[in-house]
Amino acid sequence: MRLHATARTRRLIVRAARASLALFTGGIAGPASAHAQSAAPARFVVPAEPANARWFKGNTHTHTTNSDGDTPPEPVARWYKQHRYNFLVLSDHNVFTDPAALSSLVDSTFLLIPGEEVTTAFGAASVHVNALDITRVIPAPTGSSLLETVQKTIDAIRAERAIPHINHPNFRWSIDTTVLWRMKNDRLIEIHNGHPLVHNEGGGDSQGMEDAWDALLTRGKRIFGIAVDDAHHFQGEFAPDRANPGRGWVVVRTPSLTGRAIVEALDAGHFYASSGPVLREVRATETVLTVQIQREGDFKYTTQFIGANGRLLGTDMSLTPTYTLRGGETYVRARVIDSAGRVAWVQPVFTTRFVERQP
Ligand SMILES: [Zn+2]
Ligand SMILES: [Zn+2]
Repeated sequence: MRLHATARTRRLIVRAARASLALFTGGIAGPASAHAQSAAPARFVVPAEPANARWFKGNTHTHTTNSDGDTPPEPVARWYKQHRYNFLVLSDHNVFTDPAALSSLVDSTFLLIPGEEVTTAFGAASVHVNALDITRVIPAPTGSSLLETVQKTIDAIRAERAIPHINHPNFRWSIDTTVLWRMKNDRLIEIHNGHPLVHNEGGGDSQGMEDAWDALLTRGKRIFGIAVDDAHHFQGEFAPDRANPGRGWVVVRTPSLTGRAIVEALDAGHFYASSGPVLREVRATETVLTVQIQREGDFKYTTQFIGANGRLLGTDMSLTPTYTLRGGETYVRARVIDSAGRVAWVQPVFTTRFVERQP
């Protein structure tokens, strides 16, 4: 099933390239602060579309034997290439796994982007932040509070012109929404991580990652949700209690398959995240958000449109789910659920009523 889904993604990419379609991925916007909240009905802030943009599937979080993975870098990268991913970040803990040594795997369809999982802690709280497109190892900082530790990590990554993403905040229940809200200069957060011990769904008195994402968006943080593998286990049995590959990915919309183009498109929200469903298109006009789903076999799909406070704004059962703005929304995002329970997360499309705020 996984092979089938990825083959479909490949066909989608080829078709999109052939047609040179000017598709649009949601979540792109100019400076929101320019749009003061007003009584006027909300309109989507529709960006200029990049010329000749294509979709590229990739995973930004995977381990090798250079840290705590069970397989060396070359066969790990080969797994992703064979499963028709277009890019991969090998993100070992506090180690630079240099893709230069794997250049024989790189071609026009497959790219390795240098990365690291900058791994530190404050007390019992784990602070893991991925750095995408690095040129050397970034030392893990320490701080006098949890917030300071995370912020110094983000800042160290930005100082290298690399792109940070906040990993599995619920791992060891380390980073709650209060701290996530107070961070600055971060645009990407893992809302779905394939490792079995990271508590994506929350529980008890702790928020799940999608609820945390909506809480941040509602308060005015411009942040995008990513799905990743965090794979460690490529040997032996593939099972739910093991950290196997193929469980979460992003599909990025950019004109070219280069490291810089991919990570900058991610940082700008030009992508969707998925644990299964394949999208053919995401399009917004000033008033309408439309998704096109690539149907797999006899699967059925339910799409939920979600707005501020995680409110369910609408549900659509079709393969071209559509949401028309009512006028009061600050952002709208879509959640496409297939009949196996897998999800594609369309990034929030902000409206003229969204006011970006910092703590
Ligand atoms: Zn981690
Ligand atoms: Zn990891």
